[in-house]
Amino acid sequence: MISHAELRQFPVLDDCLQLGGITLTRLAERVGRTPFYAYERNHIQLRVGLLRRVLPSSVHVHYAIKANPMPALVQMMASLVDGFDVASAAEMKTALDAGMPPARVSFAGPGKSNAELRSAVAAGVVLHLESEDEMERAARSGELLGITPRVAVRVNPEFELKYAGMKMAGGARQFGVDAERVPAMLRKLGRLALDFQGFHLFCGAQNLSAKAICEAQRLSVELALRLAQHAPAPLRLLNIGGGFGVPYFPGERALDLTAVAEGLHDTVQALAAASPETQLILELGRYLVAEGGVYVCRVLERKLSHGRVFVITDGGLHHHLAASGNFGQVIRKNYPVAVGNRMHAAPREVVTVVGPLCTPLDMLADSMELARVEPGDYVVVFQSGAYGLTASPTAFLGHPPPLEVLV
Ligand SMILES: *Cc1c(COP(=O)(O)O)cnc(C)c1O
Repeated sequence: MISHAELRQFPVLDDCLQLGGITLTRLAERVGRTPFYAYERNHIQLRVGLLRRVLPSSVHVHYAIKANPMPALVQMMASLVDGFDVASAAEMKTALDAGMPPARVSFAGPGKSNAELRSAVAAGVVLHLESEDEMERAARSGELLGITPRVAVRVNPEFELKYAGMKMAGGARQFGVDAERVPAMLRKLGRLALDFQGFHLFCGAQNLSAKAICEAQRLSVELALRLAQHAPAPLRLLNIGGGFGVPYFPGERALDLTAVAEGLHDTVQALAAASPETQLILELGRYLVAEGGVYVCRVLERKLSHGRVFVITDGGLHHHLAASGNFGQVIRKNYPVAVGNRMHAAPREVVTVVGPLCTPLDMLADSMELARVEPGDYVVVFQSGAYGLTASPTAFLGHPPPLEVLV
């Protein structure tokens, strides 16, 4: 049987998982009710520290708030990373509340409203322009406010990110401006009252292939340098995305970060030779926070149907859409799941873990071997620090939303 990648980020004491040095059963008492998400400071700090050590030191690392916008977590991140990437006015507020200087906050995403543009211009963040229309609307906001907006152009390149779990560039896309249209857009930009900062390229997410990531980074820098020849001002910022993945499903293995760093080293040198004033930026969400978080729910009932054991819990799809297999997965696969208070316990049995919603989609583990559970036990879904609560339909069926703790 193909197995999940081994997870060693949290220690086990007396057969019970520990998060932030706290035994899961005690943490659950502290939180007061299940289900909840727990994110571990230590793991996130170590992860950012690892990136800092391995990546070329001149590269800036930004955190994409979309992955996990919990205010306490973003606050912690503010002291660890060089900037934040936001994709809504609400995320921009979270970023600025956390104390990140506006010049280090970039605002991407298609369909920014005039109200969002205006508040972004007033804040002084870097607008990642997704279209010519948006460029003109940003310039109008600037005129109204008497402020010159800081802008970068998001480019939709010709190439794709191979092996990405989610492709976001190459061919027809709602994101960015097609590379071939960028020179004409830059000519217009030069005639508007806009402060050109640079380019943004984001090819895709959840990539576990170092080779594919390195190639996309190299091509992104080459394209940006070509397009910079048409720019009205020097290239100060170049955000080449990220897309670093984490292993979720059986058969997936962790990204080889050392190999990514080696490729990036060459790319950094090529950029420094051609455009020494340009700050290279990586924007990462999932890679920084996914593995430091778990989702915890409680067993309500064991139920037997036609020889199959169903473990019914108080958590499910409404809190963790991705683990249920309904957030962009084509074929449903199991996230890594364990019984948090019986980590290595025998006996084990094959069960299907479901939630309380009246839909067969509400499933957290399908025919998975777990320790034999009793009502009251804790089911833990790993790799849940990114795209968990924030990407889930909490209103569906009207159960209470989960709590979140940072430990
Ligand atoms: C979603 C997104 C990210 C973060 O992607 P991860 O897979 O979480 O690293 C970064 N940049 C942009 C523009 C995004 O849309």
